[in-house]
Formats: sequence, structure tokens, C-alpha cells
Amino acid sequence: MPDSISVDEISLPAWQQKNILVHVLRLDKIHPVISGNKWFKLKYYLQDAQQQYKNTLVTFGGAYSNHLVATAAAGKLYNFKTIGLVRGEEPQSYSHSLQQCVQHGMELIFLSRDDYRQRKIPAGLLTDAYVLTDAYIINEGGYGQLGAKGAAEILDLCTKNFYTHICSAVGTTTMMVGIIQAMNAWQKMVGISVLKNNTELSASLLNLLPENDRQKNICILHNYHLGGYAQKTAELINFMNEFYLATSIPSDFVYTGKLFFAVNHLISSGFFPAASKILLIHSGGLQGNLSVEKGTLIF
Ligand SMILES: *Cc1c(COP(=O)(O)O)cnc(C)c1O
Repeated sequence: MPDSISVDEISLPAWQQKNILVHVLRLDKIHPVISGNKWFKLKYYLQDAQQQYKNTLVTFGGAYSNHLVATAAAGKLYNFKTIGLVRGEEPQSYSHSLQQCVQHGMELIFLSRDDYRQRKIPAGLLTDAYVLTDAYIINEGGYGQLGAKGAAEILDLCTKNFYTHICSAVGTTTMMVGIIQAMNAWQKMVGISVLKNNTELSASLLNLLPENDRQKNICILHNYHLGGYAQKTAELINFMNEFYLATSIPSDFVYTGKLFFAVNHLISSGFFPAASKILLIHSGGLQGNLSVEKGTLIF
């Protein structure tokens, strides 16, 4: 594990009177592309694929998927061929994320939204004997037991018993499940959903979470999506810039910007009791900011 990861204490002017301590676990510093939680979530899938002598990774994602890019980069690093099944028709011009996938050697196949919803592996791939026997399929977003197993190691990078609360952004819930498994029963996990009205989130969480971890203190907040997945508001962009000025920590507009925005609001509105010690997981994703118009973000 690279030693560039740090735990940074931060404070915003509005938090000064609150008697609350906030630390940020900087997983964004791990690797420029396989950054943040994607590194942890992919780890055991890669091992499993190697043990099964697979040579191709096949996975799913949208045009702005950090997971697709991370899988492409990890595949290149560990000598797997990679195939990305992308939601929607092939666009005229590729998003920065898709461009990066191609740069890392990923073959992209575009699925109609219907086929994508059904996670249909294209018939061509299935009948190609070479691919059929050698492909290792990873769920969209790395969702699954092995993804959570990797994410459970995130808390090893800090003094986990120090904190009363752990907060992270939530997409598929895989990272959150890992963290819940690794945390103590007296700690509280607060997940900030970045999707709008994602009613399946609790089911996704429970589906992965072992029975004996379900009694733990868990909450998912659904009111900080700021317009929905990969949407942004002027308020969010302003906040991300102000947050950077105050802390020197860059965030991404899809996940961690919304996490920090939410936590700021929660602290200001008294959600966390006095003397709380809060750990924020900076889960990376900064490469996603390439799709933001130049000059909008100051970092
Ligand atoms: C993928 C991603 C997440 C979401 O993780 P899940 O395990 O899918 O909930 C959070 N933050 C960043 C930066 C991500 O890229």
C-alpha cells in the first residue's frame, strides 16, 4: 500500500463553536486512476480472477463510471484484457472517462438501455469460445461480497477506534458494507446517497451485509444528491471551491463533493452530538472532474 495516504484534520469556519473533530482519510492519494475505494473494491476480484486462470475482465458501467476506468487501469497493471459494457448507444464523442478506458486498452461495447438494464452479455461475446472460458465478470460498480471484503480493509489505514462516526458517499453500497463489517458496534456509519430516490439502496445493503452486522448503527441519507447522480448545482460547485480553500482538499462533484457538502450541513444543523469524532472517507473519483467545464473548479 502506498504511503502517500494521509489522515487530515479539517475545520470549516462554521464548525468552530461545535466541539466536533473531523478527519479525512485521503484514499484519493493512492493512485491517480485506480484511486480511492475502487482500488480496495477490485483487489479480491483481481485475485479471484487470477486464481481461476481468467485472462479477461468484463464489467459494466455508464459513460462517467469511475469503476470502468479503474477496471481498465487495474487490468492493464495486472495483465488482464478488459472489456467494458457501457450503458447507452455509442456517443459521438467519448466522455473523459471512456477516453481513459480506451487509453488503458479496454475494449468498449455499447449496450442499449434495455439490454443494459438486463445486464445482457452480447451474444457475440458469449459464443466466442476464447472469451467465454477466459472471462471473469465483475458487477457494475464492483458490487458484491469480494468488493465489500476489499473495502473492509479501508479502516486499517487509520486509528479506527478513535472515531464515533464514519461517513462516506454511497453508490452501490459495496464500500459501506465493508466499512460496517470492519467497524465496532458502538460506532455509527452515515452514508450519503448520491442517487436520487434510490429506493433499492437498503435492499442492496442488506443483500451484502452479514446477519450479525445488521444490528449496527447505520443510516443512509437520501437528501444530498443535489439533482441526482452525476448532476451538479452552482451551490455544490461553490461549496467544493470553498472547501478546497479552507482545507486544501480537492473533491469530485459526483461523490465526495456531495459527501463534504452533506457533512457540513449536518454539522451546522446539529446532527452530530457535541464531542463527536468524525471520519470522512475521501473515496477518490477526482478524475471525474475532467468533465467539468474548465475554470469552474479552482483545483
Ligand atoms: C464508486 C465510488 C463511490 C461509491 O462506492 P460504492 O461502493 O459503489 O457505494 C464513492 N466514491 C467514489 C469517489 C467512487 O468512485
